[in-house]
Amino acid sequence: MLSTTDTRTIILTGDRTTGPLHLGHYVGSLRNRVALQTIHEQYVLLADAQALTDNADDPAKIRHNVLEVALDYLAVGIDPELTTICVQSALPALAELTLLYLNFVSVARLERNPTIKDEIQIRGFGRDIPAGFLCYPAAQAADITAFRATLIPVGEDQVPIIEQTNELVRRLNRQSGRELLPEAKAFVSKTGRLPGVDGKSKMSKSQGNAIPLSASDSDIEAAVRRMYTDSNHLRASDPGRVEGNVVFTYLDAFDPAVDEVADLKSRYRTGGLGDMVLKRRLAAILREVVGPIRERRAELARDPDFVMDVLRTGTTKSRATTERTRELVVDGLGLFRLDW
Ligand code: ATP
Ligand code: MG
Repeated sequence: MLSTTDTRTIILTGDRTTGPLHLGHYVGSLRNRVALQTIHEQYVLLADAQALTDNADDPAKIRHNVLEVALDYLAVGIDPELTTICVQSALPALAELTLLYLNFVSVARLERNPTIKDEIQIRGFGRDIPAGFLCYPAAQAADITAFRATLIPVGEDQVPIIEQTNELVRRLNRQSGRELLPEAKAFVSKTGRLPGVDGKSKMSKSQGNAIPLSASDSDIEAAVRRMYTDSNHLRASDPGRVEGNVVFTYLDAFDPAVDEVADLKSRYRTGGLGDMVLKRRLAAILREVVGPIRERRAELARDPDFVMDVLRTGTTKSRATTERTRELVVDGLGLFRLDW
């Protein structure tokens, strides 16, 4: 039985299997996972059940992307010897915990969640919001607590979901009269929300504004060429705006030469620096980030048996972990227990 006073740091993160991962995932979360896996116990969830909440008409896409996202994980350096990679739909305890948790959150509270509100609008659901979608914060609370995770490396958009998880945890702890489940902390990186190449909202798999980690050099160059800079910066000699300029946002996220970027910003502000110079620099940097990932990914894709083995091993281990928490919660809530 898991101890409820266990203070080890356990990490859980995951990604919806709606498409291959992109540079937003890389700076928002994947880089942190690679660093943290050597320090803490880490689980990474291929969230295919959650992907279904807004893709019920296309389960084939969700299934296909389980292996695609797993390849992305391995290609960026998530090491299956250090990180447990598992498949959400193959962990029945997560679904059972979700069902229990749904009784401890109101529909009004789910509707108030700012991330849910935004995402409903972006997806244009109108009044036809799939119930599973509205309720995904409860499912995410199930995921996090099932692993007894206390640290969650996520992008900024997920912070309200973790706040709601902690509300549920406090409610369940109160109800059971003991510290049944631990609260979790979001770990947001310096670039918590990378904008899409369209410069608008965040880079997202489902919004067609992403540079995937498998992008070719020419895809990268084309995406950077299309990026908005400052619409008033027509000639190189014109003074330009740095704030809200997507190319600079990307340089801040990816260019390791911070001092040089600061110098470019001041030259851009005063005038005398053309957009093409900046874009060439950014394209070169992104090619360097993506190139080795893409190559490693292609190599791994030639060995699907290895990837399947990683998922089988990780999911088997996770079944035991999540089942223990399910028992703990059923017990903590004082539900009927059959003495087998
Ligand atoms: P979808 O469009 O299907 O929702 P997504 O691109 O938003 O896909 P998710 O699977 O929802 O990706 O998110 C996985 C993780 O990556 C989350 O922690 C999320 O916060 C983070 N993330 C996603 N996009 C970005 C981004 N543009 N910048 C920073 N972090 C991001
Ligand atoms: Mg998302």
